[in-house]
Amino acid sequence: MADADLLIEEVSAYLKPQDVEYVREAIAFSHTAHQGQTRQSGDPYVSHPLAVARILTTLHLDAQAIIAALLHDVVEDTEVTTERVAGKFGKPVAELVDGLSKLDRIQFETREDAQAENFRKMLLAMARDVRVILIKLADRLHNMRTLESMARDKCERIARETMEIYAPIANRLGLNDIYRELQDLSFKYLHPNRYTVLAKALKVARGNRREVVNKILDAIRQRLAEFNIQADVTGREKNIYSIYKKMQSKSLAFAEVLDIYGFRVLVNDFASCYVALGALHGLYKPIPGKFKDYIAIPKVNGYQSLHTTLFGPFGTPIEIQIRTHEMHKIADAGVASHWLYKSGHASISDLHKKTHQWLQELLESLSQSSDSSEFLEHLKVDLFPDEVYVFTPKGKILSLPRGATAVDFAYSVHTDIGNHCIAVNVNHELVPLRTELRNGDRVEIVTAPHAKPNPAWLAYVTTSKARSHIRHFLKTMQSGESAQFGERLLNQALHALGVKPQDMDEAHWNKLLRDTGVKTRQEILADIGLGRRLNMVVARQLASIGETVSNEAAASTAITIQGTEGMAVQFAKCCRPIPGDPIIGVLKSGQGLMVHTRDCPTLHKGRGGEQWLDVVWDKDIHRPFDVGIKLLVANQRGVLAKVAAAIAEAESNIENVNFTNEGECTALHFTLEVNNRLHLANIMRSLRKIPEVIRIIR
Ligand code: MN
Repeated sequence: MADADLLIEEVSAYLKPQDVEYVREAIAFSHTAHQGQTRQSGDPYVSHPLAVARILTTLHLDAQAIIAALLHDVVEDTEVTTERVAGKFGKPVAELVDGLSKLDRIQFETREDAQAENFRKMLLAMARDVRVILIKLADRLHNMRTLESMARDKCERIARETMEIYAPIANRLGLNDIYRELQDLSFKYLHPNRYTVLAKALKVARGNRREVVNKILDAIRQRLAEFNIQADVTGREKNIYSIYKKMQSKSLAFAEVLDIYGFRVLVNDFASCYVALGALHGLYKPIPGKFKDYIAIPKVNGYQSLHTTLFGPFGTPIEIQIRTHEMHKIADAGVASHWLYKSGHASISDLHKKTHQWLQELLESLSQSSDSSEFLEHLKVDLFPDEVYVFTPKGKILSLPRGATAVDFAYSVHTDIGNHCIAVNVNHELVPLRTELRNGDRVEIVTAPHAKPNPAWLAYVTTSKARSHIRHFLKTMQSGESAQFGERLLNQALHALGVKPQDMDEAHWNKLLRDTGVKTRQEILADIGLGRRLNMVVARQLASIGETVSNEAAASTAITIQGTEGMAVQFAKCCRPIPGDPIIGVLKSGQGLMVHTRDCPTLHKGRGGEQWLDVVWDKDIHRPFDVGIKLLVANQRGVLAKVAAAIAEAESNIENVNFTNEGECTALHFTLEVNNRLHLANIMRSLRKIPEVIRIIR
């Protein structure tokens, strides 16, 4: 296991002996867990976590992160549980591994830029700990390095995801080396031909360039020495992808791009940066408009440096970066530089605080500069978690305010989906519509053509879109359904008067509208349905127009109740009528029709001002009704379970249950869903068979 030995050697250079020992145990643990598994390439699987850990040692990450890297695929791919990892290596390591497994489960699928942006945000938002992102990036880097053994189409998908998601994240975190390598590797798989041509050309060019580079290097070194500036000067190579981008964006030929020489000057202190700049501007003439002071105004990822471009000896442009060694550390390792060169004694919470502080400082230093809004957006997801990012079944990402529920999601997809949703699958599991969504959830709304918004949704939706659509729907639904019901009431009243509704023509209605000052027929009908107007009164008004009608013909006909009238017909909570019960309708002005059982005690306490109507159940009713029953049972263990089982057996649902103590026994108050009286009778019969049940009262 050469890799394992190298890893131990690397961590020994900066970790405490005790921590090195833990890393050694983690290597053994990972080795055992992945025993027998191989990678696509045929290598033993453990070679992958080892390589990932080794990438992280270059960033000098702490022991917990190195151990988590070694175990990062253990929970996802082997029998080992998070609990076992926690037991053996501590909770923080287990949390890192868990965070990584969560990231692994989400996949980026669409091509749109805006989606890539959301996806990056989601990744950052999900990884509460920066180390999770660092390990994930190292994981991705190693996977990209070993991509050859994958199938073609898979390669392309992974490469695209890397280019669009992971490389930009590496850039934002200031991980320059990782950023460049991810770009080049993605480019290689996305455009294999262009990559090959450029890589070959670059190799050839390198030889020719050496002489020019050395000449300029000498000139720079000598010049700086004259000014007594101690400096490390190096030539810089561009990565292949940035050459390609430059060719594309500036329409340059390969030779023209390569003709630009890059150098880096590292000095000891801040002041020397500016002295060196002045010295070099005296050596070669600067190209106007090319100077950038990223020391005074750092880049959004914390990068600091002076950039200038000079006219070189043969008229070739020379790009120069000048910065201190300290700034260079950050330029190389970005966020991870906070782990760099740390003594082994700093506790994790210290490091955490430091990182948080770094983000905070960055936030403050950036709040003045204008081009920072983009990165601030990213910090926002970590520091001010007020948004969640979730997937549609097709892999599109939606951003919703924190606290948003499945109903909010449904409305943000489409109004029709919101208006017809009846259930929701979150991560392939059926959950209530009020369920609050979390980052990375995959949400699938189940709709039904006849489903309608429920006023109860208003209690838990958080987006204004959902709220206003639900309100709007309820309003129009009320008047539409009430008008239908109103028409039935009116027709019934007309029949009772011995008038055929179809005889009430346009002329009758126009006169009625004029007399009442109401704008539309629909409005009058809705008023009737809602109980705001009495059907008999309207019928008389209509019939009296033109011809006379005998009052004696007022034999009443019962109105049929189907239970689907919506808001225009309500079922009284006092007696909870179910199909089969003898019923009566009560119209109160301003309300719809309220249906009670004929023997309902509250009905006979009527306060006047109501109109009673003869109503009957429709023969075909296909919806369940809530009914209340009270069971007196003996105080014995397991009674509730027996009762609940009997209810379920009788194919009913328990909507609600609560208990009261009644001396020797307990009263169970159930609200059940039943189809009709017969169904309820069957339930009660099977409940009576339970020995502990003493009495059943509806
Ligand atoms: Mn992996």
